[in-house]
Amino acid sequence: MASQMPLYGWFGRAVEIDVENRKFEYYEVDEDVLLKYLGGRGYGAYYLYHNMRRGIDPFDPENIIVLASGPLTNTPVPTSGRFSASTKSPLTGGLIDSNCGGHFAPFFKGSRIDFAIIKGVAETPTYLLIDEAKVEFRDASQLWGKDVHETYAALKNKHGRCGVSCIGPAGENLVRFASVIIDGHRAHGRGGLGAVFGSKKIKAVVAIGNTRPAVKDQHKTLIIVKDMLKLIDANPITGKALSLLGTLSTFNIMYRYGVLSTRNFKDPLVDGFEELSAEKYHELYFHRKFACHNCPVGCGRVSKIDGRIMMGPEFESQFAIGFNLGIYDYRDIVEIHNLCNQLGLDTISMGVTLSCAIELSQEGLIKESLRWGDPELVKRLIYETSQRAGFGELLAEGSLRLAKSVGHEEYAMQVKGMELPAYDPRASQGMGLAYATSNRGACHLRAYLIGVEILGVPKRVDRTLSAFKAGLCVIQQNLYAAVDSLILCKFIGYATHEEHYSRVLEAVTGRSFTSEDIMEIGERIYNVERLFNVREDIDGRYDTLPKRMLEEPISGGPSQGYTTKLYDMLHEYYELRGWDSNGVPRRGKIEELKI
Ligand code: SF4
Repeated sequence: MASQMPLYGWFGRAVEIDVENRKFEYYEVDEDVLLKYLGGRGYGAYYLYHNMRRGIDPFDPENIIVLASGPLTNTPVPTSGRFSASTKSPLTGGLIDSNCGGHFAPFFKGSRIDFAIIKGVAETPTYLLIDEAKVEFRDASQLWGKDVHETYAALKNKHGRCGVSCIGPAGENLVRFASVIIDGHRAHGRGGLGAVFGSKKIKAVVAIGNTRPAVKDQHKTLIIVKDMLKLIDANPITGKALSLLGTLSTFNIMYRYGVLSTRNFKDPLVDGFEELSAEKYHELYFHRKFACHNCPVGCGRVSKIDGRIMMGPEFESQFAIGFNLGIYDYRDIVEIHNLCNQLGLDTISMGVTLSCAIELSQEGLIKESLRWGDPELVKRLIYETSQRAGFGELLAEGSLRLAKSVGHEEYAMQVKGMELPAYDPRASQGMGLAYATSNRGACHLRAYLIGVEILGVPKRVDRTLSAFKAGLCVIQQNLYAAVDSLILCKFIGYATHEEHYSRVLEAVTGRSFTSEDIMEIGERIYNVERLFNVREDIDGRYDTLPKRMLEEPISGGPSQGYTTKLYDMLHEYYELRGWDSNGVPRRGKIEELKI
């Protein structure tokens, strides 16, 4: 229930930006909504569900972008510099939120707003300049056509201390998996947010605000923060693996368990460990660490290759545009990772769309002659995709539309139109269920059952069994939805728990929150996302996996013989969720969650 107390943590203020008429208007955000959805992903889901008509084309002027900070953004809480953006996805046709690190969020929230709602289509290329009192519509004609690095440099040069979020040519050309890049290298990667920016002729958003939100109980907040920092530092994953070896540390353990595949998930990855190990990268190419705003972990990597300083790589890029395509040399992987960022492309969708194309080619199903392990070919195709030139016109549509165009959907490794991340769901039953039931499509960040099934965090469960996975999946999906709304980085979840989040949220906002409240908020958000999708006819029929995962056993390595037993888990999952057999939330559940 809303109180009479002033707001802390939140500003309680949002700005609605009409780029078509070059108007903006601030509005007060209802406190009840803040308490029920927190911010970030939660507010995005709430706003889009209640304010968008069914059936709007993602490139229609009526599509809406919600940029969102959370109640913990730019407070002393570790990893509170993350940022969220939501819209209707041109890749899936459903609701998409995309979470990004870097240093944009403090400048955005520093503009004394929690959220920005962007509507309409600008007449000419535009960038938005947001400060504490206004939004300016600046001409971006000179920036249109420029890549992300050029755009970032030009805007930083012009505005000095600021946060820059921008698109590259891929977004301008409406590539369905175009990303929005923060700081020139951190990505709102998944789901095609960049293409929606492009459709609205928005080249960039620059935020220059400098106001910190008020914190209700600074002393208590700092005590909890100290406790969290201690746990993060002492934890072997956050304090050691991620800090010392970055996200590449994931590669080593996944390889050993046989969770990784190559060549469009056709073959298990059983060679290349020496070249691809995290240690090899650090021995040869590591330059320095990189951390997002207020993050003690610093999982980001900066490479030095042949004298060139480049950002990355990340584990997911190492997979998608690396060994998935038969590319094992870090020099190529880092360069291709940077090329994707420069052009504004999601590395996962780009890589898995390319692997789909190469497999189609090898099977003689398309006329292009493509082969595995050819970095020069990959670079050319990525560039063509960003321009929608030649074969790139089809690649820009993503793997599902590409495979469907030749009548062979089964070669697209996707869920709901979004391409699979690195973890082969056949090797981790729970992860298979998490991919299939993810509202935004195949995603390792809606629930990470790899944690319990492979890493043994907090306890190991048998990865080959389907029993009990539904419950674990629901809990994680709900928790992650809340974490994405606070907004914190999920990586610190190895060391901290919902109790830390509720206590610190209480200290920052002065409102009462329990661990149960956090989980209920997450559940509400997950259900609202589902309701948005159901309204768009994306229901349980799409809670599935590529045929390969269900029917083709892994052909070698430690996971040999496994497939995903999805339908052993799905019924229980729906029951636990309070959804019907079509994956639709029942009326009782909607009422219980006060949606
Ligand atoms: S752990 Fe990594 S991704 Fe998360 S906030 Fe820190 S640097 Fe960013």
